[in-house]
Amino acid sequence: MVRRTFLKGLSLGSLLFGLPGQASSAAPASSKEIEDLQKNWKLLLPEKADVAAPTPALQRSKAEWRKLLSPAAYDVLREEGTERPGSSALNAEKRAGVFVCAGCSLPLFTSAMKYESGTGWPSFFTAIPGAFAMSKDFKLLLPRTEYHCAKCGGHHGHLFDDGPPPTRQRWCNNGVALRFIPKTA
Ligand SMILES: [Zn+2]
Repeated sequence: MVRRTFLKGLSLGSLLFGLPGQASSAAPASSKEIEDLQKNWKLLLPEKADVAAPTPALQRSKAEWRKLLSPAAYDVLREEGTERPGSSALNAEKRAGVFVCAGCSLPLFTSAMKYESGTGWPSFFTAIPGAFAMSKDFKLLLPRTEYHCAKCGGHHGHLFDDGPPPTRQRWCNNGVALRFIPKTA
């Protein structure tokens, strides 16, 4: 709850003073533009990119995941851990491209959906349709919306309602759970 208040303060601060490094492209102004971003996400994927489809679901044992993932990615994706804020290089990623699940390569977000939230975690105001499933968690006493990859079930982050208009969504994602595929190498 302390963190939540702090984050609210941050968003108010950014409204009043503007944030340096705000998303490179202008944030969409209308729901129609959001729809277009969701519909046309493949335009940001290089032609021969090796990505996964949402179905069939991918199921692996904990032992298999441990072998495939780095310890940090395992902790987030399979144990619902949270990385240290500011620790991911993807915070500063501004190139055009697509963010896929580090566990299964399912496309989750595009660069056009990313914005600078000032929280220290890669943040997005919308997601690729069908990329995630949701559940509630109570780790901070108040329920939060936890979201996880629709294909491998890997935990990615939490969805908050203090993002930029028109969606007001803030998909607060652990960078270590993502892999970035730039549109052009
Ligand atoms: Zn996945």
